[in-house]
Amino acid sequence: MNRRRALRKRLHDAERQLHLARLELKQTRDSYQNMVEEVNDYAILMIAIDGTILNWNKGVEKIKGYTAGEVIGKDFRIFYTAKDRAAKVPEQLLAAAVADGRVQHEGWRLRKDGTLFWSNVTITAMHNRAGEVTGFLKITHDLTERRLAEENRRIYTEKLEIKNSELEQFTYIASHDLQEPLRSISSLAQMIVEQYAGKIDEHADAYLRFITQSVNRMSQLIKGLLDYSRLGKAEQDPHVDCNEIVATVLEDLQSSMRESQAIITVAHLPILSAYPMELKLLFQNLLSNAMKFRHKDRQLYIDVTACLTDEGWLFEIRDNGIGIEPRFGDKIFEIFQRLHSKAAYEGTGIGLAHCKKIVAMHNGRIWVDSIPGKGSRFKFIISA
Ligand code: ADP
Repeated sequence: MNRRRALRKRLHDAERQLHLARLELKQTRDSYQNMVEEVNDYAILMIAIDGTILNWNKGVEKIKGYTAGEVIGKDFRIFYTAKDRAAKVPEQLLAAAVADGRVQHEGWRLRKDGTLFWSNVTITAMHNRAGEVTGFLKITHDLTERRLAEENRRIYTEKLEIKNSELEQFTYIASHDLQEPLRSISSLAQMIVEQYAGKIDEHADAYLRFITQSVNRMSQLIKGLLDYSRLGKAEQDPHVDCNEIVATVLEDLQSSMRESQAIITVAHLPILSAYPMELKLLFQNLLSNAMKFRHKDRQLYIDVTACLTDEGWLFEIRDNGIGIEPRFGDKIFEIFQRLHSKAAYEGTGIGLAHCKKIVAMHNGRIWVDSIPGKGSRFKFIISA
C-alpha cells in the first residue's frame, strides 16, 4: 500500500516537473518569438519549402511595408522584381540554400508600394532530425542608403575623372599649340634685333629687349604647363632606386651646386614602385629650390633622408635657406604661385605644383615645415 502511494507521489512529481518544463519551454519560445518580432532593422521570415511565408516580424513592415495579415500565407516571390522572377532568382536562391545550407544575395527588391530597396538577404535552410529540409529562414537587411551613397560616390568619381582628363587634354593642346606661334614671334623678334638693334633709337632697343624677355618667359611657362600635363603618361616601374635617382639629379645640378657651394648629404634611400621620370623631377625640383632659395650670408647645407612610417616612405629634403612664412605653406604648391619677384629669384612657380601632382600620382602627400630666415623641411610620403 505504502509502495503504491510512494509510486503515485513520484508519478505526480514527474508530471508536475514535466508541466513546469513545458511552461518554461513555452515562455522561452514566446520570448524568442517576441524578440524576433520586435527586431525592426532586419526583416525576418520563416518560409515553407514551397516558398509560402509562415510568419512576420516588425522589420518586414518597416523594410517592405507589409503587416502580418498582408504577408503571412503569401508567396515570398512577391518581394522580387518581375525581371528577377522571370530569371528564376527566388528559385535559384532556395535551391542554393538547400544545396549549401545557406545562401547570401544582394539586389533590388520590391516594397509593398512598388518602390525598390537594395537588400542584403541571407536564406538558411531548416532541417528536421532526419536531415530533410523543412523550410527556410530568410533575413533581409535594407542597404539602400549605403548603396545610394556608393552609387553617388561612383558617379561623382566618374565625373571627376572625365573632367580631369578633359582638363589635362585641354592643357596639353593649349600649351602644345601655343608653342608654335610663340616660336614665330621669338624668331621674328630675333631677326628684328639682329637687323635693327642700335639703328633706330634707344627706346626701340629697350622695347626689343622686353619683347625677347617676355617671349622667353612665356615659352618657359608654356613648357612648364606642357610638362605638367604630360606627367604620369609613362608606366610605373616596380623597382625604382631612389639612391640612383638622387645621384643622377645631383649630377644634372652640378652647376647650381658649384654656384651655391652647397654641402649635400644623402642618407640611404629606399627602392620603390614608382614613376621613375616623375620621381626624378620631384627630387630635382626640391633640390634645385633648396639651392635657389639659399641664405646669402651662410654656408648652405642640404640633407636628404627617408624613413618608413605607417603611411609609407617619408622623405625629407631639409635646407638652411631663407625659409617660408607658414601662411604660404599651401599656396606655394599651387600652379604659378611664387613668393618672390623673378628679379629676386628666377622661376615660373610651377615646380612645386609638379611635385604635388607627382606625389598625388603615388597616392601620397607633400607639405613643408619651415621657419622664415632659418630654413625649410620639404616632406613627402609615398606609399610603400
Ligand atoms: P619657382 O621655384 O619656379 O618659383 P616653385 O613652385 O618651385 O616655383 O616654388 C614656389 C615658391 O615656393 C617659390 O617661388 C619660393 O617662394 C617658395 N619656395 C620653394 N622652395 C623653397 C625653399 N627651399 N626655400 C624657400 N622658399 C621656397
